[in-house]
Amino acid sequence: QIKIVDHKRPPARLGQIGLRCKSVIAVGSGKGGVGKSTVAASLALTLRRMGCKVGLMDADVYGPSIPHLLGLSGRPAITESKRIEPIKLGDMPVMSMGFLIEPDQAVIWRGPMLHGSINQFLGETDWGDLDYLIIDMPPGTGDIALTLSQALPLAGSVVVCTPQEVALLDAVKAISMFRKVNIPILGMVENMSGFLCPDCGKTYDIFGSGGARTKAEELGVAYLGGLPIDITLRKAGDEGRLADVINSDEKARAPFDAIAKSV
Ligand code: ADP
Repeated sequence: QIKIVDHKRPPARLGQIGLRCKSVIAVGSGKGGVGKSTVAASLALTLRRMGCKVGLMDADVYGPSIPHLLGLSGRPAITESKRIEPIKLGDMPVMSMGFLIEPDQAVIWRGPMLHGSINQFLGETDWGDLDYLIIDMPPGTGDIALTLSQALPLAGSVVVCTPQEVALLDAVKAISMFRKVNIPILGMVENMSGFLCPDCGKTYDIFGSGGARTKAEELGVAYLGGLPIDITLRKAGDEGRLADVINSDEKARAPFDAIAKSV
């Protein structure tokens, strides 16, 4: 397990690209729609609440949803020294393909272009000195994971899944993919793990529950915690207010506090 970074240690220049960051964490999943981007953004916001300097990179180039979840828009400017100025949420730099394409435009790229864009996002963006860079990975395939692992040493990856058997099977593939490219696994997060009915107070396991914990044990990786289906979180994401909710709603952010402490 990677411990909270030492704030007194100066950030190392990582890899060839010279990113100044103490700890780079990839958030991945086996399939789309399991809440990977929500977890990546909320983890970044939570670490920032804890006083860390955090950057958020949306590497889900085919379906960039970070700008929408955080209500961010605009085009990154190019500075005089030819660096990319990231879009900022307060003091948190955020980079996403979503800032470079029209919202309803599809990205159709071949491998080498993807590789180039990821390296550019990492190396040419003015991230400043970071404690953490959280990377929202595209679901499934290993292309971008391979590019990342070649570009810089990652502290580790967090794999998000839902408790359903199909999602778990895909999560196992994601874990094996990270292992193949030598990115350490920090652990698994179970999203949509039960629904707490706000009216009757009963918990309903809509997609089942506990599957990720069992799978994590089987695979010998850590289980970092689960988050329930939360209407507040869903609305916040739809309305681009995820940061407001994480910053103001103690109940909604509780699961992320626990996850942030273990990365
Ligand atoms: P992915 O990145 O895996 O495709 P997203 O994070 O974009 O998934 O989430 C997909 C949708 O599900 C979004 O609308 C998001 O707001 C919603 N969502 C994610 N996690 C939860 C949760 N725990 N409770 C309610 N809605 C959620």
